Amino acid sequence: ERTALREDDPKALEFGYVTETARVDQARFPEHQPDQRCSKCQIYEDGPDGKGGCPLFPGKLVLAGGWCSAFS
Ligand code: SF4
Repeated sequence: ERTALREDDPKALEFGYVTETARVDQARFPEHQPDQRCSKCQIYEDGPDGKGGCPLFPGKLVLAGGWCSAFS
């Protein structure tokens, strides 16, 4: 079973992943827009309970309301 991606996972840190898009570090990621979230990302794979898969983080689940710098 896939586990939720932790923000302190090394790769999550590299991509600035957060579980809530409102907590993005705007100084580090000035391109971040408040309405961006994993559930609107082109590579998000929708799943139950507000979580889904992301090919960037194999074997993990990201939060629908999360964000990382690979958002597209
Ligand atoms: Fe979320 Fe998209 Fe980043 Fe994956 S690539 S963590 S779906 S914003």
